[in-house]
Parts: sequence; structure tokens; C-alpha cells
Amino acid sequence: MTDRSQTVRSHPSRKPCLTAVLRMAGLRPTRQRVALAELLFGGPHRHVSAEQLHGEAGEARVNVSLATIYNTLHQFHEAGLLREVAVDAARSYFDTDTSDHHHFYVEDEQRMIDIPATAVEFAKLPTAPTGMEVSHVDVVIRVRRAGTRA
Ligand SMILES: [Zn+2]
Repeated sequence: MTDRSQTVRSHPSRKPCLTAVLRMAGLRPTRQRVALAELLFGGPHRHVSAEQLHGEAGEARVNVSLATIYNTLHQFHEAGLLREVAVDAARSYFDTDTSDHHHFYVEDEQRMIDIPATAVEFAKLPTAPTGMEVSHVDVVIRVRRAGTRA
């Protein structure tokens, strides 16, 4: 690898931008938050679990505990930077795309695939209980490789 390719791969301008994003979301841009925001938002939209992010942080030499990862993901979620998609009681994914859309969940690979909001139509939905309104509807369609299981 030459020095030139190193220059192309790094994004020196992104850090101040993420600092501003965190500030606008009402979060103090601590070193850990900025480092985790870089891992989360430094590329295309994606779905990540706390364990995955913890692994990536380790590879990037960002020294944070899994508990801190959980806290930070929930803070980002509460600040509206991430959407949480619960697959089951034990597993949540955090989606960097907070826009309205649904998901396939590939069970064998523990992976989420986006479904555009327009691809799902509801023929019938119950009205919200008195005094409440529907916040949003999450559809998770579980899929697996055809023929892999009876
Ligand atoms: Zn998604």
C-alpha cells in the first residue's frame, strides 16, 4: 500500500461533522461517542448489534466495554440517531437508517435486509387504544435459506 491509498481511504473531514451531529442531537461529543459514531455512521446505512459494534470497536482499537456500547446505542436511539429493531427478546439491531421501512431477518445468518415502506401494505389495522396514537409499525419478516430445514 502506498501513502496515496492511505490518504484516499481516510476521511479527515468526517470527525467535526459527527461532533456537530452529536451536539445537535443533544449529546455531549465525548471521545468515545465520536469514535462509536464514526464506526456507525462512517459508511452506508446498516444494521448492527451491540456485540457486532463491540467487535468492530476492538478492531479499531477503541477501548470500550460492552456495557458502554449498550448505553451509547440506547443514547443514540433516544436522541433519534438510530432506530432499534427488536428481533426477539434477546436480540436487537440498531439501524442507522431511521426512515420508515421494514425488514427481512435472515435467521441462519442473523442479518437484516431492508424492505422499502412502500413494499408493505396493511389491509386492516386496529385503531389505537383511546388517548393513544400509532407511533410506527415495524414489520420483521423472518426468512431462511429454502430447503435448509424441515
Ligand atoms: Zn433497516
